[in-house]
Amino acid sequence: MFLAADSPTRSAVACLTLFAAASCLTPGTAAQETKEHGSGPAQASELRVFDPSLIDKSVDPCENFYQFSCKGWFKRNPLPPDQVRYGRFTQLYELNRLHLKQILEAAASAQPDSRSPNEQKIGDYYASCMDTATINKLGLKPLQPELDRIAAMKSTGDLPVVLARLHEIGVGAFFGVGSNQDFADATQVISFYSAGGLGLPERDYYTRTDAKSVEQRKQYVDHVRKMFVLAGDPDAEAAKDAETVLAIETRLAKASLTVTEQRDPQNLNHPTDIAAFEKDLSHFTLGEYVNVIHAPAAGKMNDMEPKFFAEFNAILAGTPIDQIKTYLRWHLIHAYAGTSLPEVFDKENWNFYSHILNGAEQQQERWKRCAGHIDFELMDALGQAYVAKYFPPEEKQSALNMTVAIEQAMDKDIDGLEWMSAETKARAKEKLHTVMNKIGYPDKWRDYSKLEIVRGDALGNQERAREFEFARDLAKIGKPVDKGEWQISPPTVDAYYDPQQNNINFPAGILQPPFFSDKEDAAANYGDMGSTIGHELTHGFDDEGRQFDKDGNLKDWWTKEDEQKFKDRAQCMVKQYDAIEAVPGVHLNGKLTLGENLADLGGLWLAWLAWLDKAEAAHLDMSAKMDGYTPDQRFWIAYAQQWCTQTRPEQLRTQAQTNEHAPDEYRTNSVLQDLPEFAKSFKCGKDAKMVSAKPCRVW
Ligand SMILES: [Zn+2]
Repeated sequence: MFLAADSPTRSAVACLTLFAAASCLTPGTAAQETKEHGSGPAQASELRVFDPSLIDKSVDPCENFYQFSCKGWFKRNPLPPDQVRYGRFTQLYELNRLHLKQILEAAASAQPDSRSPNEQKIGDYYASCMDTATINKLGLKPLQPELDRIAAMKSTGDLPVVLARLHEIGVGAFFGVGSNQDFADATQVISFYSAGGLGLPERDYYTRTDAKSVEQRKQYVDHVRKMFVLAGDPDAEAAKDAETVLAIETRLAKASLTVTEQRDPQNLNHPTDIAAFEKDLSHFTLGEYVNVIHAPAAGKMNDMEPKFFAEFNAILAGTPIDQIKTYLRWHLIHAYAGTSLPEVFDKENWNFYSHILNGAEQQQERWKRCAGHIDFELMDALGQAYVAKYFPPEEKQSALNMTVAIEQAMDKDIDGLEWMSAETKARAKEKLHTVMNKIGYPDKWRDYSKLEIVRGDALGNQERAREFEFARDLAKIGKPVDKGEWQISPPTVDAYYDPQQNNINFPAGILQPPFFSDKEDAAANYGDMGSTIGHELTHGFDDEGRQFDKDGNLKDWWTKEDEQKFKDRAQCMVKQYDAIEAVPGVHLNGKLTLGENLADLGGLWLAWLAWLDKAEAAHLDMSAKMDGYTPDQRFWIAYAQQWCTQTRPEQLRTQAQTNEHAPDEYRTNSVLQDLPEFAKSFKCGKDAKMVSAKPCRVW
């Protein structure tokens, strides 16, 4: 996803996986392509949190615990041709998507006058998105007003108004704007201006010089060329224009922060006011721009990447208007190529982003992609129907109970940290006690009554839905913060921590088997869902989250000494993950993945402590085997089995280079290597591969 409105509001949120929600992802990863297993998705009744049939006993658990726990699953679940990665998260997401399909098909086929306003919207959006005959017949016509606006530009002086319109409808040209809480004062919502404008996944794709990266850039230019040809340009012109796009994007990329630099909120915190920002942008009349999008024309704002905006200004000063128009036209077509334009665009778009960059061999079925758009663009309208049908209230209560148990475990654990001073401990606890737990779905649903969805107008629907969301986001500026708002939809199989709101969020979508089940024992549930809750909670105290105080302000609450101790301990993990070669020639980035790795290790540790307390209170017989394993062994196996995933090498490469999550194999083995308690459960010797000689530990 390359929505202009995305980056500012999403920058700080830390998610559990790279898999499910567009809002949780680094742009350009696998979100677009999550598909069903060839033989059909699993039924809910088949999915178990602890599943002994997935274990391969021929593998020594002390040598490779991931293979031991998951090899049976791998054998049963070969990677389908339309998948770039397929794991247990995908399995559940596919099941959820089938449920969405049923809701959408019913809404699409119901009698018009029998539908609720939301049913009309999701039903007609779905029917229009599925109607390829109409979409193919219309061609580029629905985009013509926007194309004409670009074509009519006489000089860069016309850019502010044209770009404003493009941003309103979700076109990610040049930069992004949105609302976010002020880093210095989390009670205030202000404008955030962010770097953007790239068609490749992130800035380093434009700068790396290895053979593979050079080839990918050539393939990208070829993709842009083909899209221009499909839009009706003569061959020679399209080839030249594609080079223009690469040249402009390369300049933007070089002035942008790397994905690793973006993880440090200090690098993104440059408070200024709109008048000063406008003055610096000497070749862009900001007043005209904000006037169109109805954003504030004065007041506080954050210029997230000043170096980027200086380069944007320089590009406007020295680039012929025809080249700017070419660049805008590309981003416009690109933003709608998915399902709203004729299938030839859709195919070419898939070919570059999913096949070339991520290795998919087959495009996912259209209904899934349409359901995905609605899940993202009409989040609460569809989510409300989903929750009513598929999320029993009891689930919410038992997830909440477990969350409280994990928080109590963290409280006790902080007491016992031998490296932290009493002063910092008190602050940490203060922050912990302020964390807000959000389970399942929002208490207040978004109101879509002003959004018009028209049957037969696929592109117009997408345009208006994006425009609606863009305006909704900007309208938050200057208003009180709504901490009840969610960043991901209820059916999403993911979770996140929001450091500026200090809350943890677990949507209904993940609170079911194979991650959570009241039919299974506590060992399995704590190993799996418990570790997820612990993961999100630990994000509040990882290298990024620890820089925010209990109220969500970017404010240091650590003593200097404790800060240094934290950094030294974190460095152990940076080294541990830097050493891992994900695909030949590409190592994991220990700094980029640090926050997630800290959350994985800390989260599993908290789940373990909480479960031990629970087991003790219940006088659980720790030697009593079930399905052949003791309770503690079941805890670790359930943890590992949530990560059973097959991944294509192309996708693995993209993930290692762009994503803050380590591949699932290391989220299992590397984490467990740092926990001597695991080794004890399986009686692993000190020389075993699953035992680290110098385990890392922060929380
Ligand atoms: Zn995370």
